[in-house]
Amino acid sequence: MSESDEPEKRFAADVMLGRLTKWLRVLGFDARSVLLANLAVIESLISGGFIPVTRREKFRGLDSVIFIGSDDHFEQLAEVISLVGVGREEVRLFSRCILCNAGLDQISGQTVFGAVPDYVFETASDFRKCPRCGRVYWPGSHRRKMIGQLESLTGWRLREGEEGGTK
Ligand SMILES: [Zn+2]
Repeated sequence: MSESDEPEKRFAADVMLGRLTKWLRVLGFDARSVLLANLAVIESLISGGFIPVTRREKFRGLDSVIFIGSDDHFEQLAEVISLVGVGREEVRLFSRCILCNAGLDQISGQTVFGAVPDYVFETASDFRKCPRCGRVYWPGSHRRKMIGQLESLTGWRLREGEEGGTK
């Protein structure tokens, strides 16, 4: 996946929104975890092209900030999608490391021998690796479950094989 194919929207989610941040990464968005302590931090993030997302009461009502009301991470994700206006075509499912936010590299199955369970090595294809932390990702039941959760949340069709974002 090339740099230019990345979604344009980039998020700076408050450190208190850790699970939401991971789900934004699952969708392929650059989602930094930042301590949104004061207005100066928020303004510098906005000028850097980031959309600040927070639950801090003191930022409620600011035009430039996405204020999240729910304490449930799925409802939070729905709020972001609706408030920011995220479209299905922007989604690059499983293209980013959920732990460290780096874009994943496509790697060949041969190179993951020993790094993944044997049954995965024998049955899976489409391996991706995080260039920063080295974690290897592959399609599987965990991923299918996440796709199901996202589909019922958003109404989007996100089945496996379409994650390149071409449709
Ligand atoms: Zn990583």
